[in-house]
Amino acid sequence: MAGIYLHIPYCRSKCHYCDFYATSNMASIEELVSAERSELIARKQYIGNEVVETIYFGGGTPSVLSAIQVKDLLAVIYTNFNVASDCEITLEANPEDLAEPYLTDLHLAGINRMSIGIQSFNNDMLSYLGRGHDNSKLVNKIKAAKKAGIENISIDLIYGIPGLSLDKYLESLNEAMQLGIQHISAYSLIIEKNTFFYKLYKTNRLVEAKDDDVVAQFNATIDTLSNNGFSHYEVSSFALEGFQSRHNSSYWEGKKYLGVGPSAHSFDGSSRQWNVSSIKTYMLNMKSDKDYFEVEILSEVDRYNEYLLVGLRTAKGISKKYISEQFNSKINGYFLKELSKLNSDDFISVADDRVTLTRKGIFVSDLIIRTLFFN
Ligand code: SF4
Repeated sequence: MAGIYLHIPYCRSKCHYCDFYATSNMASIEELVSAERSELIARKQYIGNEVVETIYFGGGTPSVLSAIQVKDLLAVIYTNFNVASDCEITLEANPEDLAEPYLTDLHLAGINRMSIGIQSFNNDMLSYLGRGHDNSKLVNKIKAAKKAGIENISIDLIYGIPGLSLDKYLESLNEAMQLGIQHISAYSLIIEKNTFFYKLYKTNRLVEAKDDDVVAQFNATIDTLSNNGFSHYEVSSFALEGFQSRHNSSYWEGKKYLGVGPSAHSFDGSSRQWNVSSIKTYMLNMKSDKDYFEVEILSEVDRYNEYLLVGLRTAKGISKKYISEQFNSKINGYFLKELSKLNSDDFISVADDRVTLTRKGIFVSDLIIRTLFFN
């Protein structure tokens, strides 16, 4: 069982908080789609004959693609890979792109799940984040997607935004509940370098949200969503029963995946591969049959760190037995020593063989996971 990821590195404009590499120059889209079609064919052996259970159009903003381009890419996948009949096929979308005929065409092309970059239902917050939509449009677009037949909807929400009160944030969570959203990815705002917000921050024109406010919004996310039947199945991911992202879960379960397009990563169980990030170089090298990727064979330490990185983010956590069986005694000894400290500080919970993050640990998950890394 495996997945395919297609990276679409275009955005109509840059959001104030985002440090992803994406261009607003759409002139090369058709050429890029053609290069990705070629890459899919060239690398059809990468995941062997495994059944493709998930396909994910991510970005950037994949909804800049026409429905015909989406259909063409899917046709190449269906022709060259063994695709499951119930394959989860997700497209990340910007609400502004979601006109009704486009949604219907996407559904007809095969898209059965949509991840919509909502971020907030509050108009002041949307404007502050540099998003080009307002609440009324968002609500209409979500309803239109469902009407077009794409009923499995995920949205992103951001908390910890300067000026965002707990009440306003709760309004966004409740609005999502009323709209019948089945999956929510909720993130705390991080001021990343190379963003508009970072420039404001460095020139004292942005003051980060207070820690207490961020903690209150983090707790409100978990409590509100669990009261509404959502399981908190990964650090930032919440889903109703049967609506967990199968694609993202496959990353966390260490399944194989083929990543296509500039800067896309792939994993075949023993090595990682990542494509060049420049759109121009990727397309040129694809055309002239030159290398467009680098490969890294994972060492034992890499595999251990990887196991922690993906496993501890999930509600299933990691297995002490697996670590003792798969990794050498030095790594296992280090793991058990650090685990005991984190357990007594209530960042980690240990129940029989399973090790998971506590709520306190989830809030600082990156730090906790890094503490367990073996260098
Ligand atoms: S947040 Fe999404 S839409 Fe906004 S710039 Fe980043 S990738 Fe593009």
